[in-house]
This record gives sequence, structure tokens and C-alpha cells, in this order.
Amino acid sequence: MKCSICGRKAVAQIRYARLSLCREHFSDYIIRKVKKLVDKYNLFDRDSRILVAVSGGKDSLALLDILYKMFSREKTRNIYALFIDLGIGDYSRKSREVVEKYTRERNIPLIIVDVRELLGVSILELAKKAKRPTCSVCGVVKRYIMNAVAIELNAVVATGHNLDDIAAYIFKEFLQQKLENIKKLAPVVEGINDIAAKKVRPLYEVYEKETLTYVLINKLEYVIDECPFVNRDSLERNIKKYLNELEYKFPGIKIGFIRSFEKKSQCYPSPSGSVNKCRVCGLISSTDVCSYCRLTAKALGKPMGLETRKYIREKIYSLFKEG
Ligand code: SF4
Ligand code: ZN
Ligand code: ZN
Repeated sequence: MKCSICGRKAVAQIRYARLSLCREHFSDYIIRKVKKLVDKYNLFDRDSRILVAVSGGKDSLALLDILYKMFSREKTRNIYALFIDLGIGDYSRKSREVVEKYTRERNIPLIIVDVRELLGVSILELAKKAKRPTCSVCGVVKRYIMNAVAIELNAVVATGHNLDDIAAYIFKEFLQQKLENIKKLAPVVEGINDIAAKKVRPLYEVYEKETLTYVLINKLEYVIDECPFVNRDSLERNIKKYLNELEYKFPGIKIGFIRSFEKKSQCYPSPSGSVNKCRVCGLISSTDVCSYCRLTAKALGKPMGLETRKYIREKIYSLFKEG
């Protein structure tokens, strides 16, 4: 198999585009695809700071690497990485090491929010105290921290959700007829003043298989193990499996679906809840007190929103001082 562009040995076949590509042209192809989406949806303004949420897995590391290559020469757009240490044994330790190594080697400023340092408990202990499933507690904590760090930095948050993730989420919400959640799955969700940061998904049109090929080709070290709490038989996982079977029979069906959805996402209903400022911490909430402040109050006897914002402010301050 030869590269369709240069004739050298191809390492990847892109069936939906009828292309075979060598290492170099595969990386170029992915970077160009992301750049096109960034420009099309104006994901980052000219002087945006970009906060990339990195877990140590293949998708978020591929995203950080792609954005770093796209923007590192532009002095006006600064890239920051955020790692949230959930305190999940070896998984968190390995993930943290991988992210620290990657960012250190490229001089990318890294903000680490250590949940045990911040709340005095790991995510598992927090979930036990709150009597709630670990992943639901983890979701609340991660979303809150990402938003709080981005607000403090005045940055746009970029996450590593790939095409397969988004397609599965859309199908799931559709199957459950939670149509008001579908609009939030667009490539960009605009921010609201000083309470909610803008959120973007630059890997929107990049298949999961492509992010894997990208990290392998570029020899990026990433954490292969999954979080021990991940549900391997979840509805999303099953939907992904079925969509992969369809993709095999009909190459390009997933990217065609995602592109049609991009055009139509605004037609779905907006979430019905109101948008408020949390009475405790001042960040976005659909009720009087945000879900993070309610969760921490229930589990720890005290809402931790304000402390969390202070902790983050200090982390950022020391980062700028070091830099
Ligand atoms: Fe958090 Fe692990 Fe659950 Fe993902 S699988 S939400 S990282 S606890
Ligand atoms: Zn080539
Ligand atoms: Zn709050």
C-alpha cells in the first residue's frame, strides 16, 4: 500500500476519503482537518488563551499535540494544560506522570488540580460520602474544575472528545428523547460572561481510530489502561460498537452523520433550566446553588466552591510567578 500523495509506504488507510497515507501525510491530514474545523467555527479568537483538559489518554494527548503544533509559533495564543488528579491509585499516578512528561518536554504550562489536596478525599471517598455513583460525582467535580480554571485564566476550554464519542452521545440522548441535551453536543458551546467558559471540541471530525493512529505515529506516550471505574457495558459503549459495524459496511457514515448534525444542531430545543450564578461560589448553576457546592456540602459538610476557586487562583498565580 502506497501513500496517495507521495508514493512512500502508507501506514494508514482512510476508507471514507479513499486515501492511503504515509506517516508524515497522515499527521498533516489530521492537523489540517482540525484546523479546518477550528476556522469554520471560530473556536478560538485571535487572542484566546486555550486550556486543554488532558487526562493522559490518547484523545486528549493527541488534541494537545495537534493544538501545540498548530499554535506554538503564534505568540498571541497561549496554550495551557489542565490535569485533574482524582486520586484513583495507579491510574491517576501513571496519567499524571505522562502529562507532566509531555508538557515539561514542550514547555507547556501545566495546572494540576489534586482532588485529595483540595478536598481532603479522593473521588471514590467523596462518592461514598455523598452516597452517589463514582462516575456521576467525578463528572460534577471535573466539569466544575475545568470551568473554574478556564474562568480564572480567561481561557477557552478544549476537550478531547472525538467523532465516535460525540456520535454515541447524540444517539444516546436521541434514544432517550432528551432532545434538550443534544444542542450542547455541538463543536462549540459559547461561554456566559464570568460564570461559564466557552467550551470547544476540536476533534469533532476525527475518528477515534485516527487519534490512536496519530499518537502511535507520533510516538506519543499515553496511558493505555482505562480508569478502573469505567463501565465497559454502558449504553454509549454499545452504541459505539453498533456504529462501528455500520461504518465498516458503509465507510463514512459516521462523519456524514456528524457533519449533518453540525449544520442542524441549532434546531434542537435549548435546555429548559434557567441560568443563575451559584449563591455560594458565583459560577454557573441551574438552581440557586450549583451542583458542586451541593455535592461537597452533602459529602463534606461544607460547600467547597469558594475554596476551590481560591485554590485554583493560587495555582495559577504560582504558575505565572515561576514562568
Ligand atoms: Fe471519572 Fe473514572 Fe468514572 Fe471516568 S470512569 S467518570 S475518570 S471515575
Ligand atoms: Zn506521503
Ligand atoms: Zn457553587
